[in-house]
Amino acid sequence: MSSIAFIGLGNMGGPMAANLVKAGHQVTGFDLSEASCAEAKAAGVAIAASAAGAVAGADAIVTMLPAGKHVRAVWAEIVPAAKAGAVLIDSSTIDVESARAVHALASAAGLKPVDAPVSGGTGGAKGATLTFMVGGGDDAFALAKPILEAMGKRIVHCGGAGAGQAAKICNNMILGISMIAVGEGFALAEKLGLSHQALFDVASTSSGQCWSLTTYCPVPGPVPTSPANNGYKPGFAAELMLKDLNLSQEAAKAAGAATPLGSAAAELYARFAEAGHAGVDFSGIIEMLRKG
Ligand code: NAD
Repeated sequence: MSSIAFIGLGNMGGPMAANLVKAGHQVTGFDLSEASCAEAKAAGVAIAASAAGAVAGADAIVTMLPAGKHVRAVWAEIVPAAKAGAVLIDSSTIDVESARAVHALASAAGLKPVDAPVSGGTGGAKGATLTFMVGGGDDAFALAKPILEAMGKRIVHCGGAGAGQAAKICNNMILGISMIAVGEGFALAEKLGLSHQALFDVASTSSGQCWSLTTYCPVPGPVPTSPANNGYKPGFAAELMLKDLNLSQEAAKAAGAATPLGSAAAELYARFAEAGHAGVDFSGIIEMLRKG
């Protein structure tokens, strides 16, 4: 059993903290939202009056916050209050630059930081089946791994500081582009009089095969569990896909990488979100693609 602090008890952080409690850890949490604190308290998380108060004496600290600016602000507060040698795990999806900046801050204070963004969404957070993509030193990874195992089922050490965030945004850029590609394929098939099932049967066993087609098919029918069969209820909301695509474009610009399709995907998801579909599952973009 470890003493763990958890800052950011929202849609993802709440159930993740609850899974740490279920695994037998002593968890103290903090969130600016009273409702999130109340829900976490009901799941067995002790609630502190501040982020600094939550981390005092903790062996491990997890943050699950909206964006880079929140992580920078919270880490600036908790790093000076953390116990010597504590492992700091940021599981938020944030820009690589902020991830590297908070790594440097924590390392300079003698702490063990890792960036450990997740894939798997709120279902994975509840079921403790998340995939963690981890960036950081070998010693920090070794300390973080058993804690992450209580919240996920696949823990991948991707490299040094920021490598977890890099893996996450590259993966999600591929996903955003591939969902648009599959959507365009079905939209063209419809105009050509080809049935959804016929295209699925061919493409799913041919060179067009990909996750966006075989697991998350954007038209109803071929994959009964995909959000297309449920009015495009998320799942993974378009606004979160847009966030990750924008992070990929920021990173591409900073690193001098050419990502023309990533850039086009970010523009299309921005248009989709602005048209009032920010909360719709990201596969729903097929409805906009049909209209052109
Ligand atoms: P959320 O908005 O539900 O939760 C974030 C929480 O952080 C909120 O409860 C908010 O009150 C709290 N918070 C903000 N600033 C704070 C501060 N200074 N101190 C303490 N608490 C603070 O968001 P979420 O869906 O849980 O997502 C969290 C992160 O996980 C994001 O970076 C998101 O991109 C990433 N993510 C989300 C999903 C998903 O499906 N929801 C999937 C993968 C990754």
